[in-house]
Amino acid sequence: MGVIYYNGEFHDDAVSLDYNDRGYQFGDGVYEVVRVYEGRLFTAREHFERLVRSAGEIKMSAPKSVDDYIQICEQLVDRNDLVNGNIYIQLTRGVAARNHAFPVPATEPVTLMYTYTAERPLKGMQNGVKTISTEDIRWLRCDIKSLNLLANVLNKEKAVQAGAVEAIQIRDGVVTEGASSNVYRVKDGAIYTHPADNLILNGITRRVIKECSQELAIPFHEETFGHDDLLTSDEVFISSTTLEITPVNQIDDQVIGEPGPIVKKLQQAFETKIKMIK
Ligand code: PMP
Repeated sequence: MGVIYYNGEFHDDAVSLDYNDRGYQFGDGVYEVVRVYEGRLFTAREHFERLVRSAGEIKMSAPKSVDDYIQICEQLVDRNDLVNGNIYIQLTRGVAARNHAFPVPATEPVTLMYTYTAERPLKGMQNGVKTISTEDIRWLRCDIKSLNLLANVLNKEKAVQAGAVEAIQIRDGVVTEGASSNVYRVKDGAIYTHPADNLILNGITRRVIKECSQELAIPFHEETFGHDDLLTSDEVFISSTTLEITPVNQIDDQVIGEPGPIVKKLQQAFETKIKMIK
């Protein structure tokens, strides 16, 4: 497994987790996944700023600063000789005898960070992927990157059982986001995606895509759109730290077609940003 960071220390290969950890019993914590390209962290600051925000939204305070987290990540990459992969970061409210309410006195948050090798999802990026649409059964604070992922897990599994890569979630007829990605439609040369409110996670990749669209002078509208609109799109794509920018070629039985010009332009612009990492 490699070198793991756990509560302020680096450990070789293994750590023991307490069965009374609130992350384990209640999903009471927050997390991030940071991408590493050629040994360098991509948009790490944005990820840790979001981690600090997520923690604050569940009334936890992150034990370290954004700069500290970045430094720990750099050390983990070095110690594990990580070239292409991800860093998983998890903060839980801590260890206390099981009781729903927050422990009194407050517990120290438990921090876990580890790396794993992962190649880029180039095949899906080139050819597009199959998706399904399904009801969004999550809570109303999807803006928090919480450890509570049961609804996402169930929807993702539904997609996998259907031979698809992602589940596009629909709330009251409106497309929100994927089980683990943001969703976009292209119509008449413009990009549309759900506003970054409480119903979606404001993806870091989504923010990079917004920046790329501005640089490419492609209109980027943060507006809701319906399930029906999705099916009449010129292009559909999804994004996440691990999927990057992946075109969608099928939603349920509806074929969307080959990756289109807008998604290809965005992929190129994204590639330039990866190459620019200092
Ligand atoms: N929405 C959800 C529900 C997710 O789990 C993810 C992946 N973390 C995203 C969107 C995409 O976010 P990001 O680009 O920051 O990985």
